[in-house]
Amino acid sequence: MDPDSSTPTLRQKPDMTQTLSAEPKDLIAAAALLRAGGLVAFPTETVYGLGADATQDRAVAGIFAAKGRPHFNPLIVHVADLEMAERFAVFDARARDLAARFWPGPLTLVLPMRAGSGLAPLVTAGLGSVALRLPSHRVALALLHAFGGALAAPSANPSGRISPTRAAHVLQGLSGRIDAVVDGGACAVGLESTIIGLDGPVPHLLRPGGIAAEELEAVLGPLSLGGDETRPNAPGQLASHYAPAAGLRLNAFEAQHGEVMIGFGAVGGPLTLSASGDLIEAAAQMFHLLRHADDLAGPGRRIAIAPIPEVGLGRAINDRLRRAAAPRA
Ligand code: AMP
Ligand code: MG
Repeated sequence: MDPDSSTPTLRQKPDMTQTLSAEPKDLIAAAALLRAGGLVAFPTETVYGLGADATQDRAVAGIFAAKGRPHFNPLIVHVADLEMAERFAVFDARARDLAARFWPGPLTLVLPMRAGSGLAPLVTAGLGSVALRLPSHRVALALLHAFGGALAAPSANPSGRISPTRAAHVLQGLSGRIDAVVDGGACAVGLESTIIGLDGPVPHLLRPGGIAAEELEAVLGPLSLGGDETRPNAPGQLASHYAPAAGLRLNAFEAQHGEVMIGFGAVGGPLTLSASGDLIEAAAQMFHLLRHADDLAGPGRRIAIAPIPEVGLGRAINDRLRRAAAPRA
């Protein structure tokens, strides 16, 4: 049972979730919803993904709200082709080789993010790397081409539930919380994509999935299983994460000497996560504001952050803030 699914602050759409077909006119409608910052579930060869424009902060925050995710773990960015992928990440020879052999298909590459990629920082959880995948499902590809950009898309289920392989499963979990689902029938693989980390010198297997590790080892040589402390080795288990250089004080009502204040709701400051106390806006702004406050704070100074309510997206925000505030080695 997912404790988040009954949280009243989850985004509730005024209208029911639409079911769209995989016909071109419906995919054009789905692409328009995505451009407007909406959430659209779509089939891939692995499972149904919950898509949002990967460059829109609020749309990406909406994914976490709809799923009721208690953590801001980074999301996989789905691209229409290799050229689009190279706009977001820096490909080395290993990455090009894997892409040439396994894309389109159930392989996700974690690569150094390109400067000025335009991706919402929430997509990468503020990290300097990005997870990219070029899916092979005909409908996923057609939607990506109709949309003309990259889609952040974790599995289209409430947090803690089983990944959906049919449009009906998506609706069972997320009806009323997302704008639309594109019904493309049953997914073929049912397993999630294999995730491989190529953002350092040694390739790491970050998650086993649709492409066998042996197939990857045939190309890359022996793979590290990511046991190294500084690497995430399973979905959601990110040992390394974004943290500002300045120290962070949580649950602050006003700045003390030498602190840059980040407000929320009634607690003001020179910067605010959301003056109106909107948790989706706060999630969308969080990484931007932490960076900005870090720049303003300068050496030896600190950031103070207003209390964020521990409900709905507030739980994921607080989780991230607590990690950022924790003492570091
Ligand atoms: P999901 O989108 O739910 O299929 O899960 C995506 C998973 O990909 C995350 O939980 C991470 O484990 C992994 N991932 C995505 N982006 C990165 C990244 N930049 N660095 C390391 N792992 C990542
Ligand atoms: Mg999932």
